[in-house]
Amino acid sequence: MLSLDEALARLLARAAPTAGVSVDLADAAGRVLADPRIVAAVDVPAFDNSAMDGYAVRAADTPGTLAMIGEVTAGMAALPSVAAGTAVRIMTGAPMPPGADAVVPIEEAEEADGTVELAEARPGAHVRSAAHDTRAGDEICVPGELTAAKIAVLASLGLGAVEVRRRPVVAILSTGDELVGVGEPLGPHQVHDANGVALAAAVREAGGVALLLPRARDDAGEIERVLVAAADRADLLVTSAGVSVGRHDHVRGVLEARGTLDFWRIAIQPGKPLAVGELAGRPVIGLPGNPVSALVVFELFVRPFIRAMLGLPGDGRLHLRAVAEDRIGKDPRRRGFLRVNVWQEDGVVHARAAGGQQSSQLRPLADGNALLIVPEGEDATTPGASYEAIVLEPIALTGR
Ligand code: AMP
Ligand code: MG
Repeated sequence: MLSLDEALARLLARAAPTAGVSVDLADAAGRVLADPRIVAAVDVPAFDNSAMDGYAVRAADTPGTLAMIGEVTAGMAALPSVAAGTAVRIMTGAPMPPGADAVVPIEEAEEADGTVELAEARPGAHVRSAAHDTRAGDEICVPGELTAAKIAVLASLGLGAVEVRRRPVVAILSTGDELVGVGEPLGPHQVHDANGVALAAAVREAGGVALLLPRARDDAGEIERVLVAAADRADLLVTSAGVSVGRHDHVRGVLEARGTLDFWRIAIQPGKPLAVGELAGRPVIGLPGNPVSALVVFELFVRPFIRAMLGLPGDGRLHLRAVAEDRIGKDPRRRGFLRVNVWQEDGVVHARAAGGQQSSQLRPLADGNALLIVPEGEDATTPGASYEAIVLEPIALTGR
């Protein structure tokens, strides 16, 4: 059996970053810049401007009563000059008129009959100087998924479109004679295809585009046909089920016979069987069939793979230490990824089983918000001991 770390390292060596594509900044939320480094072409702000609604003055004239000689509004092009003994009404964001070096806020002024009585202002008071945020020529680094704040920075630099990594297309194939499409009635001994839609959701959550393929039966020819047909439309092929050692587990066989198969047993629970290889020039990851195993193995392997294709490191999850509240049994030969709820109370993060831990028990994965990592060699969590947790959903500060 292979260790998780070695398997992941070998897998990620196969991930090639996707090419850059141009998108409008308005559509860039969640995308990743193809090159995170940007050289600012402009000063931000481009000109000295007022931080307040008030009066632009010469600081040396304050305190005092000055002659009102005009008004400057935001975006105004032609500006009055502020000579000694005069003041100009100014709005937030409006350019500082020549001659003025300070702003007295409206709250510290009294206007009457063409004059204004002003409190004292120091030079530079309430003035936002040009380039105090960014100077033209500065190199700015904007890594990771574009958030609203990062998009605001790019917009302020004058960019209307940016080069981002193309979202990797991930084809998803559910295999199994027992499967029935979601929403369709079950025949005898059939099972709804949970993996297809769940893995598609996980692909999108990881930043990829999901291409849900028509289900294949437990038939090597059919599996191969569907995968090969998808290969020229997808950057990565992901299958579920058919990677164990049963007589009808054909995904591994197809890779062995028609492509390459790298490894397929990893010391983790849930999820031991995993096929990684290549078919028709595309990387293939064959996940176990169990929906819990499929989603956990996706989390550990496919999610980092999709992120690597986007040029992003790691799994993008919050990892923290959590103190086990209960004893949760596991297989000592494998590293466990237990379905738990974590919450923070009085500065300590606690973890408790979200339900049964059999890989056929799907609901604890949905009821929980984290995976608790319990090392090889341990047959259960020790109450009071702390373990690494992968947080899958935002956590509560108190309560459970
Ligand atoms: P297998 O990997 O083919 O041995 O399947 C392991 C278990 O997962 C079996 O109980 C399958 O019925 C179940 N399973 C396989 N594929 C799916 C799927 N797409 N949706 C729900 N359950 C599945
Ligand atoms: Mg099967």
